[in-house]
Amino acid sequence: MKKKINEMDLKLPAISINEAVSRSVVSAFSAELDPTVEELGDIRCAVSEAVTNCIVHAYKGRSDSDPGYIYISVRLYDSREITVEITDEGCGIEDIALARKPHFTDGESGERCGMGFLVMESFTDYLSVKSERGVGTTVLMRKKLKP
Ligand code: ATP
Ligand code: MG
Repeated sequence: MKKKINEMDLKLPAISINEAVSRSVVSAFSAELDPTVEELGDIRCAVSEAVTNCIVHAYKGRSDSDPGYIYISVRLYDSREITVEITDEGCGIEDIALARKPHFTDGESGERCGMGFLVMESFTDYLSVKSERGVGTTVLMRKKLKP
């Protein structure tokens, strides 16, 4: 049985500065498991993509005075596993299977290429996406570090 050795829960407003904040905080917290530079880079990228999605998609159209919140839970296990759960209370995703397809984007801004979920999936060992329209989205990622 794997044993949880540390845990962290964060609540951050969905504003763009918090993409960098969350990436740095999660990687600093994960350092306890002594990941390689590459593993740390993978975690940073995956967190960045998930948090960016909350900011640009989940809370799209919200005012600066009420941007909504992003909830980030990180767990470290003695099996050298890290789980990161990122939740928003935004618009939700209508069709998760479609949203996860490479190159799928709602594409309204023209700046996005629809690769976020693919990055999260390829830089971690497990990705689950749960979402309900009008309620929000939870992305759970698990990364297993090298022995
Ligand atoms: P990129 O990440 O490459 O800039 P993207 O954000 O459109 O582009 P993905 O991150 O793969 O691509 O997300 C695919 C689509 O899923 C988004 O275009 C959006 O419609 C939807 N989506 C993703 N995350 C959320 C979320 N947290 N809330 C609502 N919709 C989301
Ligand atoms: Mg994205």
